[in-house]
This record gives sequence, structure tokens and C-alpha cells, in this order.
Amino acid sequence: MKLSDKKISGSVILALALPFLLIVPNIALCITEEMSFWSGAVNILLPLSVYALLMSLWRRTGVTTLLMLPFMIYAGFQIVLLYLYGGSLIAVDMFLNVVTTNPTEVGELLGNLAFAICVVVVLYVPALVTAVVLIFKKKRLTSLFARRYRRVATVATLLSCTLLDITYLIVPHYNMSRELFPVNVIGNMCRAVKRSIDVADYPNTSAEFSYNAVNTRPTDIPEVYLLVIGETSRGENWQLLGYDRPTNPHLSMLDSLVVFDKAVTQSNTTHKSVPMIISSLTAENFDSIGSHKSIFTAFKEAGYHTYLFSNQTRNRSYTEYFCNEADRQVYIKDSLGRYAMDHSLLPLLDEALADSLHRKKFIVMHTYGSHFNYRDRYPKEFAGFTPDNYPDANTGNRDKLINSFDNTILYIDNFLAEAAQRLDRSGIPSAMIYTSDHGEDIFDDSRERFLHASPTPTFHQLYVPMLVWMSGEYNRQFGDSAYVNLYENRSQTISPTETVFPTMLTLAGINTPRLDASKSLASNRFTTSPLLYITDLNEAVPVGSSGIKEQDRKLFNEKQIKL
Ligand SMILES: [Zn+2]
Repeated sequence: MKLSDKKISGSVILALALPFLLIVPNIALCITEEMSFWSGAVNILLPLSVYALLMSLWRRTGVTTLLMLPFMIYAGFQIVLLYLYGGSLIAVDMFLNVVTTNPTEVGELLGNLAFAICVVVVLYVPALVTAVVLIFKKKRLTSLFARRYRRVATVATLLSCTLLDITYLIVPHYNMSRELFPVNVIGNMCRAVKRSIDVADYPNTSAEFSYNAVNTRPTDIPEVYLLVIGETSRGENWQLLGYDRPTNPHLSMLDSLVVFDKAVTQSNTTHKSVPMIISSLTAENFDSIGSHKSIFTAFKEAGYHTYLFSNQTRNRSYTEYFCNEADRQVYIKDSLGRYAMDHSLLPLLDEALADSLHRKKFIVMHTYGSHFNYRDRYPKEFAGFTPDNYPDANTGNRDKLINSFDNTILYIDNFLAEAAQRLDRSGIPSAMIYTSDHGEDIFDDSRERFLHASPTPTFHQLYVPMLVWMSGEYNRQFGDSAYVNLYENRSQTISPTETVFPTMLTLAGINTPRLDASKSLASNRFTTSPLLYITDLNEAVPVGSSGIKEQDRKLFNEKQIKL
């Protein structure tokens, strides 16, 4: 009899405990998201009472618990995220990042989140194991307990709904679809599904698009333009941008290099930033991406042969669709595997330069740059800053992480100098633009933030390098007015996501109705425009209103960047 009582109490304990386990992220979000008293109270009491009501609906607690698995997954994901960013809700972009990130990246990331994952395991795995045992032993709640539990949970739910009504009345702009976990996360997941469907439909929605681009230069003059897209490169770690470590020994020696020291990207995610860099899209018209094409199409219309050499993986995103427009595409990870180094792209540049079939060439090299795990991004001979062997990514290992990150900059510095030398040696008029899609947090301050793509950005995620280099032959053939304009604009506040496309087209003498000369750094009509940031909901907001904090404002100020 006693034994049987104990088994029944297992069902009762699980039915009572699970709602409290599930609201752990709700409690944390009340603190990290600085919720008002009323919205915080709703964010805890309403989910708690609804979870309790759900647990009381069926007497077979084991089955009910397994049905609650999606809520455990949301809660677990949210806890990991709070650990990672010290705040922020699961955003639309996060679902898309999971879809567009390869399993290796996820593995590398999760390997460094051991603590957060342990918390999730300790919270939810015992509940799941107990549920399976209860199902196996066919245990259920007594009908008396289930009835009483249901009655209490119903009353609590009704009271919480009243609290929700009061919150709508009292708190200005309150919206449960944004502030109530997990309602907000489920809403974001639906938005992510819709965006994924839109991406899949891209070939149809973009079919009619044209840049109507024309080449203003003679067709028989050979020209080469190279766009190198960096990955996760923090401007603050570039010697050329004032960093006190010699991370740019090769580029520092290069002639005709123009360095833009106030470049701020409009997105902290690869899947938004890269499409903007390689098209006429900006934060202001990003929502029209489904009917847009990339810079490859503009150059093709102007008579160019186009190449994509990528050290990233195909990921079914707009970036991949845009890159599909290139005449020739090589993804080096296909043949060299996941640890392919960026320098393996250089022989492809040689091959394209030697291609005698085409006079005019436009090349995009998409590097893997400084993407975490940093120490996998450069060979040993580029480990100029040591020790760079961090066992885990945490505040205690910041010095080693920074050493390793700086080594990735040494490596890309050499890569870019090598690329410029190859263009120069070819004797063909040529120019190269380099920028990075976004930067990264590396436990820089008391917020202890790490990585990028968080719903709210930081200075470290937005401040990026941007360089333009031109060959001597280019200046001889086309005059040096472009160089003069670039040089004069070098201290302007700019967004590469807005300026790369018009600048590249100006350098190549290509015209299109979609070329806004006031955004071209190579034009004497360039004018600086307010810095914008594209939110998770694809709205363009001033960087100053993007959720950056006082620490970030101070750093923007130090760089003399006006927000
Ligand atoms: Zn990226």
C-alpha cells in the first residue's frame, strides 16, 4: 500500500513541479528585459497557471509531460540564449540562423556552452525520464487530486487573464505577442517559417528583376574588380583602424589603399548583411529582397564575366540565391572540407585572372575570416599572438580568445595583401573592396557578451573594417578622380551595407537607375546619411535606437562616430 502511494506521489510531484520548471526562463526574462512590475507579473503568473491547467487536464501525467516537450525546448533554447547574450528573447533571426548555420558551426558553438546546457539538462531531463517511467508503469493522478488541481489552476488562469487585461490598460504599448514568453517565441517562429517559405519562392518572385545596367567604358579594355567579403571581423582589432597591436603588417605596406575608419554595418547577422553588401538593398528597402537580384546580375548586364569563390557553405539563404547568379561558382569546402582555410581561395583568383576567354571580370571572394572557433581559421605560422589555446570560451580566457582572434586578422591581412599583389602583377586595371558582414562580442565588458547575431547589437558587433584598393594601372587608364574621391571620403561615417554596391559600380564605370551616386564613396557627390540598423522584424531604425547601451555609445563616441 505504501509502495503504491509513493508511485502515485511521483505523478503528483511531476504535475506540480513541471509548471515551475517551465517558468524559469520567464523569471530570468523579467530581470534581463527590465520588464515593468505589471508585465513581469503577467509574464510569470499567466504561463504558470496555464501550464498547471494543462498538467491537470489528463490524469496520465507521463503523457501530459511528453506533450509539453515543445515548451521545454523553447525554455531550454531561451535559457541557453540568456546565458550567451545576457538578455534577449529568441528572435526571428535566431530560428533562421539555426536553419542557415551548418551543423559544424552549431557543434562548435554548443561545445562552448556547457554550463547553459547543463542547466537545461538538470531542469528538464529528470522530468522527461520520470514521465517515461510513469507511462511505462501506467501510473496516473487520482481523480480527486486531478479535479482539485484543475479547479485551482482554472481559478489561477482566470485571475491571470484579469491581470493581463489590467496590464494592457496600465502599461503603454504593452503587447503580449512581444512581451509574454513563450507567446512571443511562437509568434517569431511563425514569422521565421513565413520567411523561409519566401526564400524558397525567390526564383519566382525575382524572375522579372533587372538592374538595366550599362557599361560606360569601351568593351575591349580588360578590367578586374574584386570584392572580398569578410566574416565576423571586428574593426577595433585592426591596426589600420587604430588598434595598438600590429595586426596589419602587410596591408600597412600597400600603396593606393584607402581605409574607412568610421564604418558601421546595418545588421549583425550574416544572412542580412551579406545580401545588402552584394546588392542595391539597404536597411531601408531590405523587405523587398524577394524581388531583388545581386551585384553579379548588374555586372553581367554590363558585359562582365562573374565569379564566386566561397569558403562558406551553401545554406539555402538569399546569400546562396544571390551567389547563384555568378557565371562560375566554387565553394571550396565542397572539396577541402570544413576546415578549409581562406588562403585556399587564392589559387582560384589566379585561375580567374589567367582566364583569357573574358576581358572584363568581376570576382567575389566570400571568406570565413574570423568566424568562431577562431583557432580553426588560421594555420600555425600565423599564430603571431600567443597563447591562443583557450580551453573554453569564457571571460577568464578572454586574453587567449583575443590573441586567437587577432591571429585571424593577421591571416586576412596577409590574404588581402596577396590578392592585391596578384591583381597588380596581372597588369590589368583593377580594384578591390573589402569589408566585413559584422563584428563580434568577445566578453568585452561587464555584460560578458559573446558572439554576434543577438537581437540587440553592440558596438563590437557593428563597427567593421572597410577598405578600397586600386592598382596603379587602374589610375593610369581611368584617371585618379575615383581615388581622390575615395581618399576625401575616408573619414565619413558610412555603412558598407549601403556603400559597397554603388562604390563598386562607380569604380567599374557601370551605370544603372539603381545606382545612387550620393552613396558611392568613389563619387564626388557622396553625402553621409544617418546610421541605420535593421531589426529582427526587418524595420530600419537609427543605430542609436537599436538597443545599444551606454558602453556602446562611449565607444562610438571614441571613434567620433555620430549616432
Ligand atoms: Zn557573418
